[in-house]
Amino acid sequence: MIISPITATPATLDDLEQAARADLAALGYPAPGWLAPLDGHAAGAIADVIIVGGGQSGVTLAAGLKWEGLADVRVLDSAPAGSEGPWLTFARMEELRTPKTQVGNEFNVPNLSVRRWFETRYGVAAWADLPRIPRTDWKAYLDWYAGVFDITITSETQVLDVAADGDVIAVTSLCRGTVTRTLARAVVLATGFDGAGAWRVPAFVSDSLDKSRYDHTNGPVDFDRLRGKRVGVLGHGASAFDNAIKALSAGAASVDLCFRRPRLPRTNPHRAIETPGMMTHYPDLSDTTRWQIARFFRKNDQPPPVRSFETAMALPGFRLRPATPWLDVRETQGAIHVTTPGGVLEFDHLLLATGMAVDLPARAELKSLSARIALWGERYTPPDDEADERLARLPYLDAFYGFLPKHEEDAWVGRVFAFNSASFVSQGPHSTSISGHRHAVPRLVRGVLRRLLLDQEQAILPALERYASVDLPVADDFEARLATLETEAVR
Ligand SMILES: Cc1cc2nc3c(=O)[nH]c(=O)nc-3n(C[C@H](O)[C@H](O)[C@H](O)COP(=O)(O)OP(=O)(O)OC[C@H]3O[C@@H](n4cnc5c(N)ncnc54)[C@H](O)[C@@H]3O)c2cc1C
Repeated sequence: MIISPITATPATLDDLEQAARADLAALGYPAPGWLAPLDGHAAGAIADVIIVGGGQSGVTLAAGLKWEGLADVRVLDSAPAGSEGPWLTFARMEELRTPKTQVGNEFNVPNLSVRRWFETRYGVAAWADLPRIPRTDWKAYLDWYAGVFDITITSETQVLDVAADGDVIAVTSLCRGTVTRTLARAVVLATGFDGAGAWRVPAFVSDSLDKSRYDHTNGPVDFDRLRGKRVGVLGHGASAFDNAIKALSAGAASVDLCFRRPRLPRTNPHRAIETPGMMTHYPDLSDTTRWQIARFFRKNDQPPPVRSFETAMALPGFRLRPATPWLDVRETQGAIHVTTPGGVLEFDHLLLATGMAVDLPARAELKSLSARIALWGERYTPPDDEADERLARLPYLDAFYGFLPKHEEDAWVGRVFAFNSASFVSQGPHSTSISGHRHAVPRLVRGVLRRLLLDQEQAILPALERYASVDLPVADDFEARLATLETEAVR
């Protein structure tokens, strides 16, 4: 049952922004600043927190940290302004997979919610009729949301290194040819699904074909070039289907979507672990359970979204090929020959929906970190039949997304937080997703606050002794009247 809002829908998004700001003020946003100045550094020289990545996670985390009294939170993103995250680039579906009510970045403030935003823009009935949130609207909503919190993203700024500089962290970045070094008390890596490595093109493809003959589906694809072509897709996830639809819509002659499994997964086990208990306390689970859950999700994929599946199946030229792993790929007389157990398939172009490879050293921003942080392979030894080399290469994080050092002398890595796919085993598969934010964002915020508090532990008592904020009313003759009263009381 859809329940209508009891307050009138604002006329415009500007009105909604004013309403949301009023809500924030009513709830005490932002908390007063509480960080002690850092010895030896001029005021403003050191950011409270630098967030690398201005996608949905970076923006929501910045809002959460500002709420808790951190005034100087800076967000850097390599993408051009307005193109953060996958939504307007390589995400090619019409609508989100996440159910429209399973959102959580609004901190329980209705006027910050995507539902209010959508109702304001399109009307209450439009929301009621909406099966799922359109992809481009989701991005427009995120941009509006950043505006409400006055979050400015420094765009086209690629972070190249995150390293120690005395007691703080130095972030080296490149923006339009200029390298800058910025200091921060803490750094959050909100670098997305490929934040622990790179999109993976299988070697048997990249070793055999010229780059012009294939694309990874999570990158730029020139679909116009596929007009009249026979396209082979490898993989069965959402982006395999979405890219197949794009290719056929652009005039491709055919698309064969091939995958190893004998049948597509039917259920989505991700929904099964999105319980409040699990999402709130995931890091409290034992190493064994977290490892086994991670292995389960490696083996059990989610199915493609229903709309993507049905659209693709209805398109002429689309063929679904289960039980069709690619064994070998080669180019012969201009055509791409793909060997499968059922015979050789012939294509003109390949689209690879083959996900991500875990490769921490391959990430520029992890250059100084990757050799210094503890990994699962060093902290946990699974039974032989549960070994997983890929998972073993992921960082073993603390309960708040902080890196742990391999060696004591690198304790500084604890001031860097991995709110990205690197947290998959430590924090579970749902941190950065829309449905994960409700529970994961407060955990990260607590972790940063905890770190910054512990960093200034020595300053707590001196600050208490200096504390001079007067609570009692001070009229001009207040002290004199108080002295008289006290003298009379003694008599
Ligand atoms: C086809 C498709 C469908 C999806 N559907 C859903 C869905 O329905 N629901 C859902 O929850 N999720 C969905 N996702 C997953 C979605 O990608 C994530 O939920 C979401 O993008 C995570 O947000 P994020 O901010 O953590 O990372 P991202 O959105 O990936 O943002 C990371 C940002 O970091 C920046 N960055 C990375 N490295 C650097 C660096 N070194 N320096 C500076 N900037 C850097 C990037 O430019 C990027 O803007 C889908 C993804 C795809 C591809």
